[in-house]
Amino acid sequence: MKNIYSIGVGLIGGSLALDIKKQNPDVVIHGISRKEATLDKALALKLIDKKATLEDIKHADLVIISIPVDATVKLLPTVLDLISDNGLVVDAGSTKADICKIVENHPKRRNFLAMHPIAGTEHSGPEAAIYGLFEGKTNIICEVEKTTFKLQEKALKLFTDIGMRIRYMNPEAHDKHIAYMSHLSHISSFMLGKTVIDKEKNERDIFDMAGSGFESTVRLAKSSPDMWTPIFKQNKTNVIETLEEYIINLTHFKALMEQDDFEAIYNEMKNTNHIKDILNGMI
Ligand code: NAP
Repeated sequence: MKNIYSIGVGLIGGSLALDIKKQNPDVVIHGISRKEATLDKALALKLIDKKATLEDIKHADLVIISIPVDATVKLLPTVLDLISDNGLVVDAGSTKADICKIVENHPKRRNFLAMHPIAGTEHSGPEAAIYGLFEGKTNIICEVEKTTFKLQEKALKLFTDIGMRIRYMNPEAHDKHIAYMSHLSHISSFMLGKTVIDKEKNERDIFDMAGSGFESTVRLAKSSPDMWTPIFKQNKTNVIETLEEYIINLTHFKALMEQDDFEAIYNEMKNTNHIKDILNGMI
């Protein structure tokens, strides 16, 4: 893979470009973005070697799409129209069902690989791109059997070379599981932040008391609404289901408090400590 085109040069597109270039110094990374200023930043930060446009995609060995998921659904069919017979298009979107659906009957479906690298930070834009973001992280691949075998092999080598473990899932299962593992955490963090900000209007001092527990729990509330709104929209049904379960747990916790049932509260927390074992098993 000699010519790689990155559509989107923010946290994910930029970080992928950095790691791929480090592993494959001969590769030329071409950047494509909506705003010229974003491309200029990406060039200055050396995330990309050259600026490009959609018309150049016919020269691509690989196109990586890392833009918000609603924009991906709109752009992906056009990018597949433009890719050469031997070229591959991958997307890094955080939802997979709508993205896979939009190209299910595309004549170049075999030139597309749907993936979700489970790696990220709360920062966005080209300045957020960092080396090593994907080291030891999981890359979920959906509908791998729909991609030409030779192209699959090339892409999987590229991603394992930058330290990723590969897991396979169908798009519906991906969207259901990711609603619990990622989308709910973000909503919970956004709403925790909102609850505290609303309170802070009256009590400025509250932030003097904000320790590392608050800071780490509210970290995800710094994430970009431009990226997250389309994710919640595309995964609405699953996200609502997770929220219903979460709200039941919050309401139950509140009821135990009101009933002074601190033994039950202790047990709720003790049982949830099991999360330590689960997370240790994931590392
Ligand atoms: P980001 O840092 O905000 O970068 C987004 C990029 O997309 C920018 O280059 C921006 O360029 C472009 N863009 C924004 N809105 C657009 C639109 N409507 N049409 C076309 N281009 C647009 O976002 P990111 O965190 O890299 O996320 C990119 C993708 O990766 C998303 O699909 C997200 O779901 C997925 N993802 C994110 C994470 C994470 O933790 N952040 C993890 C895994 C996967 P301009 O400035 O030129 O508009």
